[in-house]
Amino acid sequence: MHTLSSYFWAGSVTGGMAIFFGGESLATPVIPASDTPLNALLAFGKGIERDSLFAGWLNALNNQFSDSVLAHYIDFSMLGWLLFIMTLLIYIVSKDQWLRLRHELQHFALFDALTNLPNRNLFEDRIQQAIKSTRRREGKFALIMADLDRFKQINDTLGHHAGDDLLKQLSMRLRNTVRGADTVSRLGGDEFAFIIHDVEDYDGVVRVTDRITHVTDDPVTIEGLPFTVGISMGIVVYPDHGEDVETLLRRADIALYRSKDKRSGYTFYSEDADEYNRKNIELQNDLRQAIKQGTLEVYYQPKVDCGTHQIKGLEALARWIHPEQGMLSPAIFIPLAKKNGLIKDLTMLMLQKSIQQISEFYHQGIEVALSVNITEENLEDVHFPDEVDLLLKRYHFPARCLELEITEDVIIDNIQNATLVTDKLHNLGIKISIDDFGTGNSSISYLKKLPIHTLKIDLSFIREMNRSPDDAAIVKTTILLSKSLGLSVVAEGVEDELTLQKLHDWGCDLAQGFYVCKPIPNDALVEWFKSGGWTPQHREDMKLPQPENGQTPESSAPLRIVNPHKNKG
Ligand SMILES: [Mg+2]
Repeated sequence: MHTLSSYFWAGSVTGGMAIFFGGESLATPVIPASDTPLNALLAFGKGIERDSLFAGWLNALNNQFSDSVLAHYIDFSMLGWLLFIMTLLIYIVSKDQWLRLRHELQHFALFDALTNLPNRNLFEDRIQQAIKSTRRREGKFALIMADLDRFKQINDTLGHHAGDDLLKQLSMRLRNTVRGADTVSRLGGDEFAFIIHDVEDYDGVVRVTDRITHVTDDPVTIEGLPFTVGISMGIVVYPDHGEDVETLLRRADIALYRSKDKRSGYTFYSEDADEYNRKNIELQNDLRQAIKQGTLEVYYQPKVDCGTHQIKGLEALARWIHPEQGMLSPAIFIPLAKKNGLIKDLTMLMLQKSIQQISEFYHQGIEVALSVNITEENLEDVHFPDEVDLLLKRYHFPARCLELEITEDVIIDNIQNATLVTDKLHNLGIKISIDDFGTGNSSISYLKKLPIHTLKIDLSFIREMNRSPDDAAIVKTTILLSKSLGLSVVAEGVEDELTLQKLHDWGCDLAQGFYVCKPIPNDALVEWFKSGGWTPQHREDMKLPQPENGQTPESSAPLRIVNPHKNKG
């Protein structure tokens, strides 16, 4: 404020003087005639910057008064001198402030406000300088692009202030990992970059990356709590991997992407990585198109009652039949969708398609619960319950038939948002199911806080329960826990008769897995339901589609579910 008011006064006085003296002879050598305070302010600033205002005025006073101006000067000499002295004083005070302001503005344009590290502009300029000087010496330098792992979780759970705090603390540690002549920069978000000068060999660069990695060994304390993050790095070496700023930055980015994907800590750029990246970008675009055009398909995996073997539910699972590569595993395209911000659209597409398809059965009198998997992006979106509600209304599908599956780790990581969104969903009559239960590695107190209807015991316990007494104990205890909390319990990964029988004996409600049925397309479901197979009375052969490519082979024959009407005829 002080600075601004000084400039205002300085400008006004200068403007006043410029107008007073006719705005010509006195002002012309140094500043243009100023008819508004704003012009006067600009002119004054310009004059100070050129460091010539004072000299100009003295010059003007001594030599360059025209007759007319001199006449004014004589008439109003007292006022003129007063204004001149005031301006002179303000100038002396303001010049310092002006220079400081200019310095601050320059700093602001080149340094990151949060960490005070060089920003992207300055970093690119420094790469340019490094290229010039390294080329002269015929040496090498390394450019390291780094990105924090698990930063988003801290930002999401504790808020942006906590995230900023972490970035500040880490940036100080990072600054100390390199020599004074090297550069550490924050490019934005949780992305940092380094220029390491005079690199002799790649081992030397690896030693630097080791030091950078160790920066995250000690937890960062935020709001009194310790947090650990990881760091991934992509490395390029000038001139081996590129000779201009753009190529070096692009390739370091590719190497970083690869490093994050492989969870390798650091990766040097290679053409393989580039090719991998190119294919990934193509696949990303194909996926974007497939979601936009709605060509992803929904397969359904039935859940049956452990005792009666009646179908009680269907889990909707996304399947992508790529035009060139055929059926692609969800293990490939779900992470790709998550990484590229497509997961929300993918989930909405699955919800829309499955509600539309299963509501057709519902309107024919076949009531079966539909489960759809949702992600943390949905839990963070307060509008998500309304969007689901709209779909239910559009297809006249009852909310009680819809169950949304959320994995345990997502619930735990997003407990605050989870409470808000799950409450809204619960109020609409939609059921919430905890997927992969038992893998969250955390307190289960959230079961009391959230309106949960179902627990799905993770398949890792079910698959091992016949061999491992520990896994059997976990399964039994989880069933007991569910029962005492009044929750429904589903066992995933049921692959043989013995497991199904034991689960039934222990009181498990529903079973899902290859022994029951693998995921099947909607057409097969139509056939199944048409033949009345949705209420099986007993087991008998029934035609099911062939196993999908890339699926785990079934450990035994699937449970056959029958058409009771067929048997009669
Ligand atoms: Mg699931």
